[in-house]
Amino acid sequence: MTQKTYYITTAIDYVNGEPHIGHAYQKIIADALSRWHRLQGKEVFFLTGTDEHGKKIADTAKKANKGPKEFVDSIVPKFKEAWKALNINYDRFIRTTDEDHKKTVQEFIKKVQKGGDIYLGKYEGLYCVGCEAYYTEKDAQNNECPIHKKPLETIKEESYFFRLSKYKKFLLDHYKKNPRFILPAERRNEIINRIKEELQDLSISRTSFKWGIPFPGNPKHVTYVWFDALINYYTATQTKGKEKFWPADLHVLGKDNAWFHTVYWPAMLKSAGIKLPKTIFNHGFLTVEGQKISKSLGNTISPIKIVSKYGSDSMRYYVMRATPFGEDGDFSEAELIKRHNTELADKLGNLISRVTTLAEAIGLQKTPLKSLKTDKLIKKMQESLENYQTDKALNELFAFIDQCNTFVQQTKPWETKDKKILYELTNALKDIAILISPFLPETAEKIAKTLNVELSWKQLSLPLKIEKVKKSEILFKKIEMKQAEQKTQTVQIPKASQTISYEEFSKMQLKVGKILKVEDHPNAEKLLVLSVDLGEPTPRTIVAGLKKHYKKESLLNKKAIFVANLQPATLRGIESQGMILAAVSEDESQIIFLTPEKDIKEGSNIR
Ligand code: ZN
Repeated sequence: MTQKTYYITTAIDYVNGEPHIGHAYQKIIADALSRWHRLQGKEVFFLTGTDEHGKKIADTAKKANKGPKEFVDSIVPKFKEAWKALNINYDRFIRTTDEDHKKTVQEFIKKVQKGGDIYLGKYEGLYCVGCEAYYTEKDAQNNECPIHKKPLETIKEESYFFRLSKYKKFLLDHYKKNPRFILPAERRNEIINRIKEELQDLSISRTSFKWGIPFPGNPKHVTYVWFDALINYYTATQTKGKEKFWPADLHVLGKDNAWFHTVYWPAMLKSAGIKLPKTIFNHGFLTVEGQKISKSLGNTISPIKIVSKYGSDSMRYYVMRATPFGEDGDFSEAELIKRHNTELADKLGNLISRVTTLAEAIGLQKTPLKSLKTDKLIKKMQESLENYQTDKALNELFAFIDQCNTFVQQTKPWETKDKKILYELTNALKDIAILISPFLPETAEKIAKTLNVELSWKQLSLPLKIEKVKKSEILFKKIEMKQAEQKTQTVQIPKASQTISYEEFSKMQLKVGKILKVEDHPNAEKLLVLSVDLGEPTPRTIVAGLKKHYKKESLLNKKAIFVANLQPATLRGIESQGMILAAVSEDESQIIFLTPEKDIKEGSNIR
């Protein structure tokens, strides 16, 4: 009997930054796989979401002057927007701050506790805040995080431990019995070697910060972010009607997450008495124009920007076709444009346009199919996708598109006016639309509309019904390479959602002011109270956080730039009637107020 349901998950993204191409790559492939299974008539559950707890989020939120929940609430919509732009058709977007998840995590821990696999101990180790993980001295050369290349902190804290070491034999046996549990194979070998070397118990709670799920039975502790996050896949199946989807068919992840998902996760599930997922696929990383994607390098390209420039389907096609899933790949706009032009426009677009134009002019006549059958193609695509080879599946499909283009050349229907030939070609377009729909959903919809056909598996084996076709709109306009030269700007320029119009900016009144008086704030260590002449009848009182950075007398009679129409705010009991502008170094160790380059009268406007 064939399987009726299919449960696929992506990594849940850590929301300390905004979505970039790397995040998008994984979601696109998971989306195509989920659409492929849905197309075949399975009941599919496709889960994605965000990972929102941990010290790194708490720290990032603090820097942004926000509470952690307020901060994550401001980031999550950006992920949802990006997935919408890319047609990522998920069934649930889970957040680890969701109530049902918190409840499931606590129940899960209780199950593991009941089994005797949790004990209280002391942990001392080298910790990377960036990774939210401890490193052994062996993994961390020069006490540096191997991923972030930053010094590790030595942390000592009371912690609950999970008896991971107990599961060494279980895990090795499980990998052996289930060769498709860890894919691709080279990653399986890495994991096996590492487990054989050492498998220590895992610290699963923290006391040094509060932003996490309270540990059951001991409110001093919060659950370690990885122990919390992994459980999301299970949480999503604990609502009514979704139970049938567990165990998951496929967890799709980046290779940096392999250890957590192939070692911690199955041991946790085994301990809690829950079935293990079937396959954990660990894909490679994308670089951007040959460089590692990194916030500090400033090359985190926004997927929305790429979609607005080239369209969602071209982006999807490029990342799936260019890199074998599992291996490392590169994202290059010039390459994207090349594939858009030579494959999508010249091959697919051209075929659809030629065939529908001729079919409209000449007409169709139904005939049994002879030359352009797709049964072999379907089988090959199925085999490729069973092995998660999206690039290969697309190669097969484009080989068929080539075959159709050659067939047009050879049969010359514009000369022969052969309606049967055109029927056979139009029928092939139907199959192409159906088979390409998981990869290029927008394009498939357009072809389906032209042919008035439903995008379903059943339609593959049914001959095209219609005998009249209208010519298709142009599906892919060629992109000039010039555009490629103006490479999409990286994060140095704010994303569209963060920019303001000139009109909005002009609402802000900035003025030159002269500091007449400087006093200590009576109730605040860091604040000074300034009396400032903004060219108005009376001076204003402005509270500024400059005390650590300037001696009072050094500010006296200086001219600086002020925001003059800021809503007054009471800071520790004193109303501030404006704000001084200052340059702040990244670590906030330096704060330097801005001043006009030459002397100018107080009250002058800044534009
Ligand atoms: Zn790190």
